[in-house]
Amino acid sequence: MLCHLTARRVFIFKQFMAARYLSLVQEKAFVNGVWTEAKSGTTFDVVNPYNQSVVAKVPDMSTGDAEKAINSAYEAFRTWQNVPAKERSSLLRKWYQVVDSNKEELAKIITAESGKPLKEALNEVLYGNSFIEWFSEEARRIHGEIIESPVGTREIMVVKQPIGVVGLITPWNFPIAMITRKAGAALAAGCTCVVKPAEDTPLTALALAKLTEEAGFPKGLFNVVTCSRDNAPAVGKLICESPKVAGISFTGSTNVGKLLYKQCAQGVKRIGLELGGNAPFIVFDSADIQKAVGGAMASKFRNCGQTCVSANRFLVQENVFDQFVSMLKQEMVQQLRLGDTTKPENNLGPLINQPQLEKVESIVKDALQKGANLHVGGNRASSVGPLFYEPTLLTGITPDMRCYNEEIFGPVVTVIKFKSEEEALDIANNTHSGLAGYFYSSNMAQVRRVAKQLCVGMVGINEGIISTAEAPFGGVKESGIGREGSHHGIDEYTFIKYLCVGNL
Ligand code: NAP
Repeated sequence: MLCHLTARRVFIFKQFMAARYLSLVQEKAFVNGVWTEAKSGTTFDVVNPYNQSVVAKVPDMSTGDAEKAINSAYEAFRTWQNVPAKERSSLLRKWYQVVDSNKEELAKIITAESGKPLKEALNEVLYGNSFIEWFSEEARRIHGEIIESPVGTREIMVVKQPIGVVGLITPWNFPIAMITRKAGAALAAGCTCVVKPAEDTPLTALALAKLTEEAGFPKGLFNVVTCSRDNAPAVGKLICESPKVAGISFTGSTNVGKLLYKQCAQGVKRIGLELGGNAPFIVFDSADIQKAVGGAMASKFRNCGQTCVSANRFLVQENVFDQFVSMLKQEMVQQLRLGDTTKPENNLGPLINQPQLEKVESIVKDALQKGANLHVGGNRASSVGPLFYEPTLLTGITPDMRCYNEEIFGPVVTVIKFKSEEEALDIANNTHSGLAGYFYSSNMAQVRRVAKQLCVGMVGINEGIISTAEAPFGGVKESGIGREGSHHGIDEYTFIKYLCVGNL
């Protein structure tokens, strides 16, 4: 009898979870608090990269639709900018709570549209939600200052105010976190948002919008405009150039980032850019090799290598080179399981789409044609699914190879041998990118020297995973402008106003 009751409860729970999942999969965009179709009535398919099934159809919006979203955010800003920080904080906290209550369903949506392993998707939800939590707390700490005036009858006051409507353009590789890292900070500061998610992953953005509804957000605060890759340039241009938009925050490729930077120049818009990386991962002779291999696995294979801070060039000192390569190969062969990413036993998913698969494949072919040594992998894993690529390990890398210079964004490890610290730093810094860098060493003097000399915005020292809401995320050189997360993340969305109080 007891067993029967338990089975029934499990059944009801499963039905409830399935219904909850379906209620979060929205097939309309979210504009001014209303679920909206494109004016043209057109839609595009959201495709599961694992098996190419159509998960949903969402509106293919164009500039007219985006304009409505901008107008609604503009109207909402009139009120939201004056809402006391404590209330903004409370509303964000509610959003955090509803996201947390729906984390399993959100993870399923991420896996369905991005192919990311379910466990990783759940971790991304927790990570993404940590920005909502963090900025709900930071909302109450946007302080001004009083500065000592040189004139006795005057007082100098400095206040921080929200910049206005912000356009948030985000990529597919972290469908939730790349939105919350921006929107959490923007809303905390008193800005309102128009989100343009990637064509591949609009469902997570729409689910987040659904949860803003459940959290009781006023209309117009958080808008999501979905559009196909064909419409993205026009919609992006409108968002950059609209006089009603005060700033843009973009995460994505360096090429598109440069284009948006140009488009924002006309209106001298505030811009935050989180762009591509080409992270060096240096292993010095003194390193704990076991730990370095563990860090390499985590850094390289998370999200199938489709991570902007993923290690792209492994530089290993000559005395430990063979040991590192052999241990890494062993880990790759033993640990990585390709397959249906909804199943817990599989930890390596497909690439996001056909162009990404072809890019990875051509980078490997180019290296092999130019003389690289193949230790494992090197082919598509088509028997698993149309977008799978084998985990691949290459050595004998030379500067003329594409993998030396380009962000691979796939499950491919390239290892370069070096002799001296100076040589390692020369190779590491010989790139236009400067997002993250990693190194393993147990020599404290070397740790200080190398950490200082790496030309990147973030350094992992004896650590392969470094992102967290508390720390500033961002790059130097062509990897971007500005920082997200940490207390610096709010700065992107506020401006400083100086008040001179005279005749006191
Ligand atoms: P992407 O092609 O630049 O796309 C990013 C976003 O921009 C998508 O929403 C995309 O829409 C949109 N977009 C594309 N062309 C546009 C245009 N002309 N105007 C306005 N918007 C446009 O980049 P991705 O391939 O999605 O993402 C991979 C890149 O992002 C990698 O280089 C990676 O390193 C970088 N990334 C950086 C960070 C960071 O924090 N630094 C984090 C994650 C990823 P569609 O999807 O519809 O094309």
